Amino acid sequence: MDPTYPAESQNYRDEIKQFLDDNLPADWAGIGALTPEAQVEFITEWRKVLYANKMLAFSWPTEYGGPGLSSLESVIVAEEFSKRGVPLGGPNDVFGIQMVGNTIIHWGTEEQKKHFLPRILSGEDVWCQGYSEPGSGSDLANLGARAVLDGDEWILNGQKIWTSAGHLANWIFVLTRTDADSPKHKGISFMLCPMDQPGVEVRPIEMISGESEFNEVFFTDARVPKENVIGEVNGGWAVAMTLLGFERGEAAATMPIQYRAELDRLTELAEMAGASKDPLIRQRLAWCHQKVEIMRYLGMRTLSKFLQGGSPGPDAAITKLYWSEYHLKVTELAIDILGADAMAPTGQAPSNAFGADDPGAPADNVRSWTDTFLTARAGTIYAGTSQVQRNIIGEMVLGLPKEPKADAGSWKDVHS
Ligand SMILES: Cc1cc2nc3c(=O)[nH]c(=O)nc-3n(C[C@H](O)[C@H](O)[C@H](O)COP(=O)(O)OP(=O)(O)OC[C@H]3O[C@@H](n4cnc5c(N)ncnc54)[C@H](O)[C@@H]3O)c2cc1C
Repeated sequence: MDPTYPAESQNYRDEIKQFLDDNLPADWAGIGALTPEAQVEFITEWRKVLYANKMLAFSWPTEYGGPGLSSLESVIVAEEFSKRGVPLGGPNDVFGIQMVGNTIIHWGTEEQKKHFLPRILSGEDVWCQGYSEPGSGSDLANLGARAVLDGDEWILNGQKIWTSAGHLANWIFVLTRTDADSPKHKGISFMLCPMDQPGVEVRPIEMISGESEFNEVFFTDARVPKENVIGEVNGGWAVAMTLLGFERGEAAATMPIQYRAELDRLTELAEMAGASKDPLIRQRLAWCHQKVEIMRYLGMRTLSKFLQGGSPGPDAAITKLYWSEYHLKVTELAIDILGADAMAPTGQAPSNAFGADDPGAPADNVRSWTDTFLTARAGTIYAGTSQVQRNIIGEMVLGLPKEPKADAGSWKDVHS
């Protein structure tokens, strides 16, 4: 593990700091310090600033509109943005840039790259992810949304669920079954479907927090241009796995910064509430402190692999399991410190309840803690459940025997 940055990277870091000084308001304290209305306005304008300055999609080649930064430069941008509590993009960029954009760069034809990538960056195309279905989440390859070729178009029928930010998107990347006679992993295609058409209906799902951040998406004879398949027809499983495997070095760099800031804010809350004198609360804060420090070392391990040109591989499962299980506990501690106040939350909702920290928010903003506590429950489910991460670690890191697979034969046989 050697996360040492080369000396010349300091110049680049200084440039990024200068960019932030030049473009953020003089009194900038972090996105969480703004009112909800001001946050929406800020993020919309900030994304335009990033786009105009080629600060989105760091690793994308210049011919497709990206800045073509090196891995090291990408990590430095992510670190400096995180320290200042400023977002790296808009709410759907995780789906557009990180997921489908990177996948198109990996698998797409030249025409697909030239058409889709610049539109993702400009914000003209806003994406969401159509993987999960009511009967296929962890067992994703079980999916049943069907697409049948009709001339120059695929006709798509079926349902997706838990589609985060689907109500904000105008495009959805979908895994569809295009051959039901093959074994389940072999008859899947990866398609890009325009949502602005009569055959696509988005219905919001209300979450435990009262927000509706995700949706059900129904396809009824929806039409997808034939050329919108990424990779081979019936070869979509490999494309789907590429998308799931996209790991960003910046996540390893930013996560420990964000979780540290969140814990500092919690310690401040404990002091304000007089709870920091309670030995049991102190013990739990100390436990959180050592967890965040270990997270920092895990981050450095991933980062040093990344900076040496490698990919995190199954380390990603360790990191995912680690932060999501930790976040359950630290947010429980926040609720215990708040006591009865947590039952009738006051203050404003966090700027982003997914993930850690609300940079700039006052430590005693109760609603920020209660919402983060509730959405932390989802962290051990989305992007692969904790049980699934443990299976990956068991099989791919520890080399334990693979899970027995009960279903053999074609998808149609299994489902008839
Ligand atoms: C907040 C949130 C946002 C999401 N956003 C999206 C999105 O944008 N797009 C999208 O496509 N999906 C999204 N998802 C769906 C997510 O990917 C699935 O919820 C997840 O993969 C689990 O699938 P499931 O809900 O069907 O649970 P299931 O797969 O039915 O699992 C139920 C339980 O069984 C356990 N289990 C299942 N298989 C195994 C096994 N082999 N070994 C041991 N235990 C097992 C699981 O760990 C879990 O505890 C989102 C989910 C959440 C919570």
